[in-house]
Amino acid sequence: MPYPSRPTIALVTDCLFCRIVAGDIPATVVRETDTTLAFRDIDPKAAVHVLVVTKEHFVDIASLAQADPELTGDLMETAAVVAETEGLLADGFRLIFNTGAYGGQEVDHVHAHVLGGEPLGPMVCK
Ligand code: AMP
Repeated sequence: MPYPSRPTIALVTDCLFCRIVAGDIPATVVRETDTTLAFRDIDPKAAVHVLVVTKEHFVDIASLAQADPELTGDLMETAAVVAETEGLLADGFRLIFNTGAYGGQEVDHVHAHVLGGEPLGPMVCK
C-alpha cells in the first residue's frame, strides 16, 4: 500500500537540511558524496550522532524509498561508511529514520540518525 499523502517535494527553500546541503547554514560535515551529505547533529543524543541526508529533497524515508530505490541505497551506504569511520562497527550502533508525526520527525527532509559510541538503552521509551 503506498505511503499516504505527505508530499514528496516540499518548499525546499524553507527546508533546514536543504539549506545545509546548499552551504547556507553551517554544519560539521563528516562525509559527502555526489548524492548524500553526513553531518553531526547539533544536539547530540549519544557520544556519536551523525545525520545522513540525501542532497535531493525528499520528505521522509517512505517517500524516498518508493520514488528512488537507488538513492535510498546511496543513503544507506553513506550511513554504513559513517558508522565505520566513526568507529562504531565493533560495538554496534543504531540507525533511525523518524518518520511523520507519530515517529517524532521534526525536520521534513529525509535523514538517517547514526547513533553510537556508548550503550544506547532501550529502543523506545514508553
Ligand atoms: P528528527 O526529529 O528525526 O526530524 O531529527 C532532526 C534532528 O535535526 C534533531 O536531532 C536535531 O537536533 C537536528 N538538527 C536541527 N537543526 C540542526 C542543525 N542546524 N544542524 C545539525 N542538526 C540539526
